[in-house]
Amino acid sequence: MTVAELADGVRADKRAVLARAITMVESRRPDHQALAQELLLEVTPPPDAPIATRVGITGVPGVGKSTTIEALGNHLISLGHKVAVLAVDPSSTRSGGSILGDKTRMGTLAVNPRAYIRPSPTSGTLGGVAKATRETMVLMEAAGFDVVLVETVGVGQSEVTVANMVDTFTFLTLARTGDQLQGIKKGVLELADVVAVNKADGDHVVEARVAARELSSALRLIHPRGALWRPPVLTQSAVEGTGIPEFWDAVLRHRSTLQEAGEFDRRRRQQQVDWTWTMVRDAILGRVEHSDGVRSVRSEVEAAVQDGSLTPALAAQRILDAFDGGS
Ligand code: GDP
Repeated sequence: MTVAELADGVRADKRAVLARAITMVESRRPDHQALAQELLLEVTPPPDAPIATRVGITGVPGVGKSTTIEALGNHLISLGHKVAVLAVDPSSTRSGGSILGDKTRMGTLAVNPRAYIRPSPTSGTLGGVAKATRETMVLMEAAGFDVVLVETVGVGQSEVTVANMVDTFTFLTLARTGDQLQGIKKGVLELADVVAVNKADGDHVVEARVAARELSSALRLIHPRGALWRPPVLTQSAVEGTGIPEFWDAVLRHRSTLQEAGEFDRRRRQQQVDWTWTMVRDAILGRVEHSDGVRSVRSEVEAAVQDGSLTPALAAQRILDAFDGGS
């Protein structure tokens, strides 16, 4: 298949072609990579094309991300949207399987023709997974998906990575009050544009509302009065579907607030530049790690750092010297 044929198939939302194109952007084979880049250029929309809404969803395992995506996805489809669900799961690169974007946990959405669910790529580094996800996002948007939901868990850098590829970053949590609030990482509260206390149903409705109020006060300390956007804290029940339309309204309010201030376009452009430099850094690190010079000294230098006969700073210097000299 030529690049033009692939591009036509993607634009026509032919699922077999789309799947093939995604496999190509996920592949680490240099020939696939080269084709993927040609394809991405080909399908990149003109500047006046409608802009899809990119939303990140994070929260600890069990908080209800899949259930929320299922409810939200169906709500969005009922509003006439086409919904893509992608996942960034750093653990998948080690385990070879991804718990995120698991279609069995989003049963009705998975079989809806107006939805497309893609689990996290299972090979490569977080950087590699992020690259594949960003590029898949471009393909999905070319195929007419006007809402892209990117799911991730709060492990290491993955939240920052996802926050940097979406327009609105949302954080799901459970009813926690007082001391339990301390357990929520401050970092994620700084990134979140919308916060929702999930499982506000049955006996837990009041508890959830109290928790939302406390969380809201905590957030006020992070986002000063007068900030362009102060993240709302909502309550919802993903299983009952309550609060889901309000969740989406908050995402849209965030988007229009940024757009009116000119911040939306600025952010997207900055994300492209940041993405560029991230790839430069990843590529350089890859070259260093795979150079003959570094490979020949690596185990010796690592052993010396471990037994304390070399400081990390000196070890780093040895590795860079080996890179300069050996490749
Ligand atoms: P994830 O790991 O964050 O994707 O969480 P899941 O969506 O798989 O949900 C974990 C468990 O919590 C499942 O048993 C869900 O049925 C349950 N759950 C999810 N959302 C809600 C909710 O709003 N209310 C209640 N009561 N249970 C929920």
